Amino acid sequence: MATVQQYESGHPPEWCPGCGNFPILIALKNALVQSAIDPKDTVVVSGIGCSGKLPHFVKTYAYESLHGRSLPVATGVKLGNHKLTVIAVGGDGDGYGIGMGHFIHAMRRNLDLTYIVHNNQVYGLTTGQTAPTSEKGYKSKSTPHGVLEEPVNPLALAISSGATYVARTFSGDLPHMVSTILGAIRHKGFALVDVLQPCVTFNKINTYPYFMQRVYKLDAGSYNAMDKQAALAKSFEWGDKIPIGIFYKEDKPTYEDGIPHLQEMPTCKRPLDNISVDKILDELQ
Ligand code: SF4
Repeated sequence: MATVQQYESGHPPEWCPGCGNFPILIALKNALVQSAIDPKDTVVVSGIGCSGKLPHFVKTYAYESLHGRSLPVATGVKLGNHKLTVIAVGGDGDGYGIGMGHFIHAMRRNLDLTYIVHNNQVYGLTTGQTAPTSEKGYKSKSTPHGVLEEPVNPLALAISSGATYVARTFSGDLPHMVSTILGAIRHKGFALVDVLQPCVTFNKINTYPYFMQRVYKLDAGSYNAMDKQAALAKSFEWGDKIPIGIFYKEDKPTYEDGIPHLQEMPTCKRPLDNISVDKILDELQ
């Protein structure tokens, strides 16, 4: 079994002091250790943004892709070798803004991926513009009179689009993050982990104290995460009280389960010597 030290890449993060990305990185490493998956069988894929740098700081296979494109790349990796544990990471602007179309279609397919979104409700890397998850009325350099749109609700989108593990956690609660990410890694199917991640430099509204006063844990004894309608209703609770935990969970076949040749072996292991490129080209003419 690997140790947390074995996941150290040797490249120290350069996030702002106090950034909520630090505990997410720690939580991910601890969840990977507890999952007992060999680091060589793990791939972490990101888009662009402050959180998009995360693959540099964890010693697994890694790919920092283009803005909003972590899920298409993660999909390609998974279909190339479905035996790998594939984890996509990125920010709310990356995943719920420019990558929104990929987000919905990846969930619709129920690929066996874990997607961790560092949701700080602002564009951090580009110095503090309004993001898709910024609350209505939020003022920033891009919306100085307050944003007019309603914010994206990622949990409601995930539940209604086909994700089979939908959770929210908070980067001020390390044990909760570790258990939530571990559950996502172990889940067979598309798992969304939306993390409330304070951007201490640019978001002066959704701060650590803001969330500390509001977050509460869904009660595993009384809350039924298999009830889709109840999960959808719960996903709209936001304000004085903000729930964290597993909102929705469902067991059903993955996209990979439906691909016949993957039942024999991973795509990358298939022999190439009986493939005739000329024959394929002839068929395409
Ligand atoms: Fe973190 Fe915000 Fe700094 Fe980016 S700008 S590193 S999200 S605190």
